[in-house]
Amino acid sequence: MIVFKFGGASVKSAGAVRNIVEILKRYREEKIVVVVSAMGKTTNAIERIIEHYTARKSERLKQEFKSLKANHLEVLNGLFEDKDHKVFADVEELFGDLADRLAKEPTLNYDFDYDQLICYGELLSTTIISHFLNSSDIPTRWMDIRRSLKTNNTWREAKVDWELSNQLVNEHFTFNGERIMITQGFLGSTINDQTTSLGREGSDYTAAILAYMLKAENVTIWKDVPGVLNADPKYFDDTILLEKLSYLDAIELAFFGTGVIHPKTIKPLQNKNINLHVKSFVEPDAPGTLVGNLSYSKLTPSFIFKMDQVLIRTSPLDFSFINEGNLEEIFGIFSKHGMKINMMQNSAISFKIIVNKDKRKLRLVTDELEEKYKVDYQTGLELVTIRYFDQSTIDRVMINKELIMEQRGVQNIELLIRDQG
Ligand code: ASP
Ligand code: MG
Repeated sequence: MIVFKFGGASVKSAGAVRNIVEILKRYREEKIVVVVSAMGKTTNAIERIIEHYTARKSERLKQEFKSLKANHLEVLNGLFEDKDHKVFADVEELFGDLADRLAKEPTLNYDFDYDQLICYGELLSTTIISHFLNSSDIPTRWMDIRRSLKTNNTWREAKVDWELSNQLVNEHFTFNGERIMITQGFLGSTINDQTTSLGREGSDYTAAILAYMLKAENVTIWKDVPGVLNADPKYFDDTILLEKLSYLDAIELAFFGTGVIHPKTIKPLQNKNINLHVKSFVEPDAPGTLVGNLSYSKLTPSFIFKMDQVLIRTSPLDFSFINEGNLEEIFGIFSKHGMKINMMQNSAISFKIIVNKDKRKLRLVTDELEEKYKVDYQTGLELVTIRYFDQSTIDRVMINKELIMEQRGVQNIELLIRDQG
């Protein structure tokens, strides 16, 4: 048994879904659990819907809903000639359920509402793809992951209940004649069957969890890039494909934000020594990247860029020094509002934290900090992490940049920089 994960880009259009069928046909002998994300930019679109819903902006909500539905119908129409096919009714029903939810008053818990609404992206994509596979002579069973993957109720960042989920996954994910089971990435549910989500881009993690629990032979993440590159081609023109990665290098690169693999994905695979392939769905014969229990002598420097960074500086209003008590308080505020810290640095009278620019969370965090601290912040910064750095790689990144802050480790260096000019 193997696990495949198809991300948003690999299911964004009718053509992309047909391509999945082509890929699955290459693996005729295998039993496969297929984990799928929402189509294209659907999750972003639903996030906008949720914003309008909680802000009670009904006109904009209506527009977004309409365009979300139109996008899905376009894919459907591109896939199914028979307009009486059951898939049309199934998709209509999902949009009906979503509309019903949106007609209710928002609760006071934004993150709870978020999870109850965001799930429609994956429910829609898996419904459409599973019908299409069936109609393409690939017998497929649709599985609702929420019946098997149980989590706590930390909405939007739910923690997996490994023991219970392991039992349920093994009970439910049994192949009965069909060769393929398809299910949603990113989602789970509480013991009371309320939907949860595992954090943005969490579908890779779902694939790893299922592989771990079902003891898969290997996992393949199908992407629109050739594999894991040593930098994002958006920022570098001569990127290098990393053909082999140790689990540790993969974890480090994912943790610092290479974006190709979700950071939580690697650990479960490493624990059971399951290989991970990252391959291009455009060029399925190309080798891609293999992550596993590997070693290599040549260490290729990797560059990870985070744009739009904000440096928040806090100093106690009473001019006292920063101590453990302050730190506990400051971290508590960031954690309470779910604001992830990308980098931090301490001095006698101030504590500096670097985060992604998220206006809503920034406001919540700074409002609360300002009760006890002087807070100022600087925007428009970039955070660059180099793994296996040397002076020449640093020089390369620093061209026309001003250094604001740096943190140097043995293998990694982090540079907070700003464009000059
Ligand atoms: N659809 C979710 C997201 O866009 C999960 C994923 O793509 O992995 O974050
Ligand atoms: Mg994705």
